[in-house]
Amino acid sequence: MPVYSATEIAFLMVACQQAVLALGWLAGAVLMPESRRAALNWAAYAALSALSLVLFVVSVQPAIEPLRAVANLCIVVSLVALQRGVWAFFGLPRGWRWHGAVLAVVVAVTAFGLDPQHGAWRVMIISGALSALCLSVAWDMQRQARARMELRWGVVLSVPLLAGGLIFGLRAARALLSPGTIVAEVTADSGLNVAAAFGYLVIALVFQLTLVALVVTRGVVELRRSSRYDALTGLLNRRAMQAALEEQVQRARRFGEPFSVLMLDADHFKAVNDVQGHAAGDRALQHLGTLLAAQMRDIDRVGRWGGEEFVVLLPGTGLGQAREVAERLRERVQALPLRWQDQAVPLTVSAGVSQWGEGGDELAALLARADAALYRAKAAGRNRVEGESPPGAPRVELVR
Ligand code: GH3
Ligand code: MG
Ligand code: MG
Repeated sequence: MPVYSATEIAFLMVACQQAVLALGWLAGAVLMPESRRAALNWAAYAALSALSLVLFVVSVQPAIEPLRAVANLCIVVSLVALQRGVWAFFGLPRGWRWHGAVLAVVVAVTAFGLDPQHGAWRVMIISGALSALCLSVAWDMQRQARARMELRWGVVLSVPLLAGGLIFGLRAARALLSPGTIVAEVTADSGLNVAAAFGYLVIALVFQLTLVALVVTRGVVELRRSSRYDALTGLLNRRAMQAALEEQVQRARRFGEPFSVLMLDADHFKAVNDVQGHAAGDRALQHLGTLLAAQMRDIDRVGRWGGEEFVVLLPGTGLGQAREVAERLRERVQALPLRWQDQAVPLTVSAGVSQWGEGGDELAALLARADAALYRAKAAGRNRVEGESPPGAPRVELVR
């Protein structure tokens, strides 16, 4: 029974930990088909780092150089898999130029370093490669987390990798400055080594937690997005629109801020589906959503209320002004038909407008008035705007 140093025992423990995590990522590949390739790469990362640690421990006492060379190769390949997983996760192109170059250098150095007198060079170049890989993964992570997941604190995710990059970098520097000590010190049973072993245990786990955090965060971001926005048009969905309206009602009750709502419905939309097909209908809804959103101010809220019906909230806007907004929208939709398969598909909308009435108005009543006005616009021949004054207010007519 060989006697292991504290460092070796720590390495074997990390190997166990990584093997379990490799199984975890394999399960992840099954459970998350949208991130399958990333999960498989990360399973390979964990499995290869476990393997390299076991090989390393086995190859130290008695020293078996070729085995140690394989252990070194494994750890480089594991970080390559880590980075390729990150690329897959973010949908980045996965070229081989960078990884091919790193692997070629490492393989060459490993062969060259089999001769013990070149050992320090080998440690230096391989540690340098590991440092470069860690730093470039750290860079990818913080950039992508910020750009694609809108995470302002994306940089936090890259801190463990940054630390890993620095540690490998220091090791490379030490191999350059004091060759000879670097391999011997790993097997020595010193207090420093025990502390370093615990440090390694923590870092290996934190690397993995970073990946888990990436997956969980993206899930949360997507969940939040899909619970608020309509998948087809990207406008607020009905629930979020309802919440925005309720908030506005609170403000109106508290501060007496006027506001109006538009309810818009595409005219004869069933015919678009019937004649051009459902895909054209979907495109038409996106087209309408884009036109609506483009016309509105930052403070306005635009939502898809359901089917081919939209609701717009106009804070600080009275009925007359809201009718003008609706009229402009109506004209714009008419002027810009949908381009579909080299055809112009004409679209029109009808709109009902209502204004929040001071004193005792209700959201349901406000929407019912907009709906009633919309109904009148439809009945009067469509492609029109109708307004419905609050109860007791003088009627406001649009001056054309
Ligand atoms: P009107 O002028 O009276 O509003 O006539 P309309 O045909 O627009 O009204 P109707 O309510 O009869 O039909 C609405 C159509 O909108 C029927 C439905 O298939 C279509 N529709 C609703 N949601 C979607 C969608 O997400 N995609 C597509 N392609 N069509 C949709
Ligand atoms: Mg319609
Ligand atoms: Mg409708």
